[in-house]
Amino acid sequence: MNLQTKLKLNIAHLYPELLNIYGDMGNIYALKKRCEWRNISAEVYNINQGTDINPDLFDIYFIGGGQDKQQIDVAKEMQKQKENLKQAAENNAVMLAICGGYQLLGKYYLPHKGEKLEGIGILNAYTIAGNKRFIGNVTVKSNFLSPETIVGFENHSGLTYLEEGTTPIGKVITGNGNNGKDLTEGARYKNVFGTYLHGSLLPKNPQFADYLIKLALNKKYNCEIELDKLDDSIENTAHKEATTRKY
Ligand code: GLN
Repeated sequence: MNLQTKLKLNIAHLYPELLNIYGDMGNIYALKKRCEWRNISAEVYNINQGTDINPDLFDIYFIGGGQDKQQIDVAKEMQKQKENLKQAAENNAVMLAICGGYQLLGKYYLPHKGEKLEGIGILNAYTIAGNKRFIGNVTVKSNFLSPETIVGFENHSGLTYLEEGTTPIGKVITGNGNNGKDLTEGARYKNVFGTYLHGSLLPKNPQFADYLIKLALNKKYNCEIELDKLDDSIENTAHKEATTRKY
């Protein structure tokens, strides 16, 4: 690749008007700014209900969390875009899904009331509503990042269980994670990541943000791209603070 090439990433923000709670929008800001601070352009496209997703256009997909009601509307829409999103995932596009959005990337979400919501099955996982709401800060020991801790804020009643071919993003150190029992948090399949960590996640976990940006650049430009180091002192202070707080 010619070193003069201006690097560019296209970021699809899925259903921002419906799934975007507990600061999830901050993940889009973190991805965009961490690209721009390195002179990499990052274009964000809001994908709303009724928009047909072109799986060849986007390098990173982001979907946030929301209450059961919003999930019902998004679940219906995602079924229409299921093949496009699955094709993107199989082509190693980077995806980050938070909580409600994470649940819909799995096989299904069975809420307390109403019908089972069909997921799009990119993640081999399923979610059933639990009797207790998990609320609070979470610290996870990741199995792919350095530094390895990931911090965030959980607020969900859904209990997610992973099945073959889908691995967790790490082991719960404090908090509940996927289901409060098996000490797993989140899920990964290829370059698709799901997690219960709101907060928002990426501003407090700069190493995770950069990992996703690098994955997307390496896939798009078909070479190993090194990212310039940034001054992450503020991000690391926020990260450290979150590891010491329950709420
Ligand atoms: N409604 C889902 C649950 O309670 C997701 C919540 C969320 O996105 N924070 O598990």
